[in-house]
Amino acid sequence: MNDRRERARLDGTVSADVCVIGAGFTGISAALHLAEQGHRVVVLEAVRIGFGASGRNGGQIVNSYSRDMDVIEAHYGAETARALGNMAFEGNRIIRERVAQYAIDCDLKDGNLFAACNERQFRALREHQQLWARYGHDRLELLGPDEYRREIGSNRYRGALLDHSGGHLHPLNLVQGQARALESLGGRIFEHSPMSELLHGQPAVVRTPGGEVHAERVVIAGNAYLGQGPGQHSVPELLQRSMPCSTQMIATEPLDEARARALLPTDRCVEDCNYLLDYYRLSRERRLIYGGGVSYGGHDPASIEAVIRPKLLETFPELSDVRIDHAWSGAFLMTLNRLPQFGRLNDNVYYAQGYSGHGVTCAHLAGRLIGEVIRGESQRFDAFAGIPHLPFPGGRRFAVPLSALGAWYYALRDRLGI
Ligand SMILES: Cc1cc2nc3c(=O)[nH]c(=O)nc-3n(C[C@H](O)[C@H](O)[C@H](O)COP(=O)(O)OP(=O)(O)OC[C@H]3O[C@@H](n4cnc5c(N)ncnc54)[C@H](O)[C@@H]3O)c2cc1C
Repeated sequence: MNDRRERARLDGTVSADVCVIGAGFTGISAALHLAEQGHRVVVLEAVRIGFGASGRNGGQIVNSYSRDMDVIEAHYGAETARALGNMAFEGNRIIRERVAQYAIDCDLKDGNLFAACNERQFRALREHQQLWARYGHDRLELLGPDEYRREIGSNRYRGALLDHSGGHLHPLNLVQGQARALESLGGRIFEHSPMSELLHGQPAVVRTPGGEVHAERVVIAGNAYLGQGPGQHSVPELLQRSMPCSTQMIATEPLDEARARALLPTDRCVEDCNYLLDYYRLSRERRLIYGGGVSYGGHDPASIEAVIRPKLLETFPELSDVRIDHAWSGAFLMTLNRLPQFGRLNDNVYYAQGYSGHGVTCAHLAGRLIGEVIRGESQRFDAFAGIPHLPFPGGRRFAVPLSALGAWYYALRDRLGI
């Protein structure tokens, strides 16, 4: 973490053109786009900048969405698929533009890999490559059983698909860098300032324990953490249509250069193709950062290391002597159709959430689209907003056991390679 400076909590009444709730990728990206357009922006963050998923994630720059384009086309039609397909690489581009424009130091590296654990997954990667070619994506390279070893020093896989346009980075430093850029344009960020009440109207009033913001527009970007803190306003309309899931990560001690290079010779990041997927990358100080596992409903296992270390050793058995220095978890937000939810609560309250595990790029896209809709260009925002935001059957309480059962079934399929 490059910057440990804390921001003040909100104390008293302030006014703004736009009040953004949540300082993760979605909220900070939206606030930065809005500040660049000349709006007076106030961001309220319940804890610290990047406290949610944005500061804790795997840092993998994965293009597109958590659903394949053919599924989107089959369910929502060719027009929606075309609109979403045209935006599928934009989040990635926005990140790279931000890093260059504001000189953000966040260890940005090129290339991400999808690794197939069995023949079925390898066939699916081949189809995936062909599908993407239809949307003009020609930077995907399919690597067979021998070729993938130039990228990943593990015997675990059948092959891999390399996306040369993807990549990885230090996520907390990315969100902090954008927060500083926002402040350089006059935007204000208050930490330890959870929204405790939202009064709709013109202006809308957002209350916190210490003050209130009067704003012409409000953007809700609390994602899985919305309504989770003590005294936080929960926005029931958004909770019913989504489910927080917890996923866990560990970081090894720093590895010497030769050992690190043997694991990931080209320093790209990897996610496998299992339903409950493993994902990993090397950090700047050559720690292997390894994630996996999902707990539905957002509850953590008693020992994160006990859950994730065996997964790491399945991929790299030679690391059995390596110390684990850090273990943590974070919550992402799952939707029923695994597509993000962008929409309006009324004329002047907008939201974006639910990237279903692949939010690094899409949250940045969400920020740009919120900027567009607030300046009156709603077409691209509405391509997402038109997709139905389906409630989980039985609400969150029943969705947890049902989803866990579904996850168990898919994990079994992954194990059996069917
Ligand atoms: C462990 C982990 C690994 C992941 N790995 C990857 C990956 O490698 N690649 C990828 O694409 N995606 C990954 N994801 C998903 C990705 O991180 C998220 O989709 C993305 O960061 C969501 O950003 P966000 O800004 O919408 O939400 P968050 O980053 O969760 O931010 C929400 C913020 O809102 C604040 N907040 C909530 N309620 C209030 C309130 N009432 N008042 C004020 N503030 C509030 C929270 O404190 C929080 O800071 C991962 C997620 C996790 C948890």
